[in-house]
Amino acid sequence: MAVVAMVNKIIPFSSVDGPGNRTAIFLQGCNFDCQYCHNPETIHLCVGCGACVDVCPTGALQLRDGAADYSRVMHKDLEGLPQVSHVVYDPGKCVNCDSCIQTCPHGSSPKIRFMTAEEVMVQVRRQIPYIRGITVSGGECTRQREFLLELFTLAKAEKLTCLLDSNGSYDFSQDPELMAVTDGVMLDIKAWDSKEHHQVTGRENEAVLHNARHLASIGKLPEIRTVVVPGLVDAEKTVTNMTRMLAPYLGQGDIRYKLIQYRPLGVRPEYAVYSMPEEDFMEYLKQLAVSQGFTAVIA
Ligand code: SF4
Ligand code: SF4
Repeated sequence: MAVVAMVNKIIPFSSVDGPGNRTAIFLQGCNFDCQYCHNPETIHLCVGCGACVDVCPTGALQLRDGAADYSRVMHKDLEGLPQVSHVVYDPGKCVNCDSCIQTCPHGSSPKIRFMTAEEVMVQVRRQIPYIRGITVSGGECTRQREFLLELFTLAKAEKLTCLLDSNGSYDFSQDPELMAVTDGVMLDIKAWDSKEHHQVTGRENEAVLHNARHLASIGKLPEIRTVVVPGLVDAEKTVTNMTRMLAPYLGQGDIRYKLIQYRPLGVRPEYAVYSMPEEDFMEYLKQLAVSQGFTAVIA
C-alpha cells in the first residue's frame, strides 16, 4: 500500500530550489530547531490541541476526536506524538490568512495535506515540460524517507531530476536505495564549529560534515548553503573550512555555494535579534570561497 506523506506545501515553479525551473515540495516536520528558521511552522507536527480552529475566519479547520489516521504515514517524528484530537483542513475554504499558524502555540501548522507519491505527481505532471525536475524540502524531508523513495521512483519515470534539500542529519552513505533515485542533495551548512551548530540548531554537526564529504565524493552535492548571521555564527570560519574541505572534490561535479544574508523577517520574534550582515562582508566571504576554487558562489 502506498505511503502517505505530510505535505506542507507545493510550489509549482521555483527557481531557487536547485538548478533550472523546478516543482518544490515541502514536507512537514524537522529534527532541527534553527533559531533563524523562516518557516518555523514546518518544524513540529500538529498535536491537535485545537487552538487554531476558532481563529479561522472561513471554517477551513475542524476539530475531530481521536488521533488522525496515521496508518499509512511513515514519519520518524510520529512516535509518541500526543494527540487526543486532530484537525481536519479543507484547502478549498482556506484564504491563506495564516491566522492559524500565528496562533499555534506548538510551532506547527494545521494546513497539512496527507498525500501519496502519486497524488503529488498528479500536481507535478501539470508542469511538465516546463520544469527540469523536482526538489523535496521541508522541514527535513528525510524524516519521511519511504515517501521520498516512492516519489522519486515515479518522477524518474517522467525523466525528471530529483533533488533533496536537507539539514544533513540523515546518513545518506547508508542508504544506497534512496541515493539510486536521488540526483543530488543540497545541504545546509549552519556552522563549521560543532558548538556553534548546536547553538543554532540544537544538534551537533558531525553528520552534516560527513554527508558533505560523502556526497561531494560521489558527485551528488550540487549546492551547499550557509546563512550568514553576525553574532551567532563565525561565517568566515565556516566558509574557509567548508571550501577547504570540499575543494579536492570539485572535479566530481560543480558545487555551488550559496551564502545567504540573514533577514529577521519571518523569524520567530524571540530569535529575530540579530542584525543583517553588511554587503562588504558578504562579498568578502564570496571571495574566500572563490579563492579555494569554487566558481559558482552566490552571495
Ligand atoms: S490560513 Fe486558512 S486555515 Fe488558516 S486560519 Fe486562515 S483561512 Fe483558516
Ligand atoms: S496546528 Fe497548532 S494550534 Fe492547530 S491544532 Fe495543531 S498544534 Fe494546535
